[in-house]
Amino acid sequence: MEKINVPEIFGSLVFNERVMKERLSPEVYASLKRTIDENVRLDEAVADAVAAEMRDWAIEHGATHFTHWFQPLTGVTAEKHDSFIEPTPEGGVIMAFSGKELIKGEPDASSFPSGGLRATFEARGYTAWDPTSFAFIKGHTLCIPTAFCSYSGEALDKKTPLLRSMQAINRQGMRIMRLFGNDDVKHINTSVGAEQEYFLIDKKMYELRPDLRYTGRTLFGARPPKGQEMDDHYFGVIKPRVSAFMEDLNKELWKLGILAKTEHNEVAPAQHELAPIYSTTNIATDHNQLTMEIMQTVAKQHDMICLLHEKPFAGVNGSGKHNNWSISTDTGINLLSPGETPHENAQFLLFLCAVIQAVDDYQDLLRLSAATAGNDHRLGANEAPPAIISVFLGEELTGILNAIKNDAPYEGVEKVQLKLGVHALPRFSRDTTDRNRTSPFAFTGNKFEFRSLGSSNSIACANIMLNSAVAESLRQYADELEQAEDFQAALHDLIKRVIVEHERILFDGNGYGEEWVKEATEVRGLSNLRTTPDAMPHLLDKKNVEMLVRHKVFTEAEIHSRCEIMLENYCKTVNIEGLTMVDMVRKDYLPAIEEYLYTLARAVESIKNVSPSVKCRYEISTIEKLTDLTDKILDAVEELEKALQDVKNSGTDVITTSGMIRDEMLPRMEKLRGYVDAAEMLTSGKYWPVPSYGKILSSV
Ligand code: ADP
Ligand code: MG
Repeated sequence: MEKINVPEIFGSLVFNERVMKERLSPEVYASLKRTIDENVRLDEAVADAVAAEMRDWAIEHGATHFTHWFQPLTGVTAEKHDSFIEPTPEGGVIMAFSGKELIKGEPDASSFPSGGLRATFEARGYTAWDPTSFAFIKGHTLCIPTAFCSYSGEALDKKTPLLRSMQAINRQGMRIMRLFGNDDVKHINTSVGAEQEYFLIDKKMYELRPDLRYTGRTLFGARPPKGQEMDDHYFGVIKPRVSAFMEDLNKELWKLGILAKTEHNEVAPAQHELAPIYSTTNIATDHNQLTMEIMQTVAKQHDMICLLHEKPFAGVNGSGKHNNWSISTDTGINLLSPGETPHENAQFLLFLCAVIQAVDDYQDLLRLSAATAGNDHRLGANEAPPAIISVFLGEELTGILNAIKNDAPYEGVEKVQLKLGVHALPRFSRDTTDRNRTSPFAFTGNKFEFRSLGSSNSIACANIMLNSAVAESLRQYADELEQAEDFQAALHDLIKRVIVEHERILFDGNGYGEEWVKEATEVRGLSNLRTTPDAMPHLLDKKNVEMLVRHKVFTEAEIHSRCEIMLENYCKTVNIEGLTMVDMVRKDYLPAIEEYLYTLARAVESIKNVSPSVKCRYEISTIEKLTDLTDKILDAVEELEKALQDVKNSGTDVITTSGMIRDEMLPRMEKLRGYVDAAEMLTSGKYWPVPSYGKILSSV
């Protein structure tokens, strides 16, 4: 086996601090560092110097091109490659790259979704270097992480609002830091570790399935005799082919400075997970996008396909993404970790309250940040958290909050009257905080784990909402506490009040149960936004717009554009699925069943020729059942075609259209699938036009 020197390859394709320090003059380095750490504008001379070094370094590492790498609202990353070459008068070329080219690019904005922003504002867009995320090399291209905006300044991407939300939580969090007298803290930051689930299947199987190729998921497929019910895949032995893939994947990720750390099999057959060590939210987001891309590339090199769809196979657990999130200071203190002293603990409880209140006040924003056509198949389907957002704290922390609420002694580790700022809190171990896997938002010792995200989601959206909502709680707390005459007393009252007011969002029970849906919606008044068309329009709710605009995360126009784009994505996705189903039924399934029927009919004829008294019960009953099914399939496909046509004629209001898709198309797709899957069970495998679930899931 090839030996890998991890420390040597780690970050070898990244223009990181080490490289900068090595290659830039001390003045240029210091100036760039100020830009990175303190958001100070970079002057042009410095940009030129950085660009020149970046170019030389990139060329030494085999790059011939550069690109502004950005995250438009399509959900995937975009890049347009320019080579470094510049002609010389003698007919040759030199390799050139200026500070201007580093700082700003002008991709054609019209080919990216803008949700009406373009019509209202400017057609052109530009990309701007984000120096807080390091440049890196992919293939022969130097990739420069950038934000993507319209010329009038509206964000056309996911990075811009994410950076704005990080500034918002920093702004409000710093006010709290000052109140607690943490004068050494200059900055607070949010960190994220995104656990990524995925499926690996053989490339040959993939190529034989039009549904996988066009939509990323199987639209048909009878359940295999053996699925995940044996629970023998989770943490099981990794197959050699998969382990070779993981080895290469790690190597590629490490070269890009991505801290790929753990990998294991997941619950479903052919399903796996990769988790990185957490980093700053912005970087974690860039890295997760890269991770998804590289997973797909490396899989192909191993003749496999990496499926990132949330629900590639019906009846088999889908794939999600866990967004582990915490807030910390530049001095290295995790504000979601109970500290050593009572003073630190009061601060911890205040930040804890800020998160609890944020999740309660903005349930809908968190829910919609994970809403896509693909993820609708998972949430609430007893394999992923329900669509109802709630917070899991664990017994110990719940006990502490109850004690504060009731001014009662805390019956936990020590029997003491809890007075904020006086007593130390126990440390929470993973064991007491992470038992509940059914909660969408769980406290896991020193961080929160938001588990609603789908495997193909960008994590940007969820973190934008989370950062902004928590910034809003902190803003309210700072407003109140800054006016207080007795800080300790005011703090105690505030925390107590928040617990009372937002208790309804706390739930440690079974999130999969029917009883919870009833209790959450009927008793507690929590929202249950089951599908994307249910959830997404809430982005436009007054309270949400006000909050996001107040913290300068979005403009009102940006919010409208995003709602429209997300719903458009939903409509397009399901529409393609519907069309693919029609296509497969008419071109593949019906002709295949027909062929099998013909074989059976011929068999009956031949057998009866030989022996007229034979009943041919198997052949004839199969013929009867299958012809009944082909009739039903025909009716169902015609109904689906009609729904597709109705949707097409439904006009331009995307909220209405998405509702039609949810109510008219999806149920018909489900019905059609049912008949085709039933026919699959009756048809000889030899005649079935696509590989079965069993074959695909055991293909690697
Ligand atoms: P699991 O949830 O799979 O049992 P862990 O809790 O150890 O495993 O880690 C899950 C993810 O949470 C990892 O990506 C890890 O880096 C990340 N993580 C750990 N601590 C923090 C933190 N303070 N802030 C954000 N993410 C964190
Ligand atoms: Mg986890």
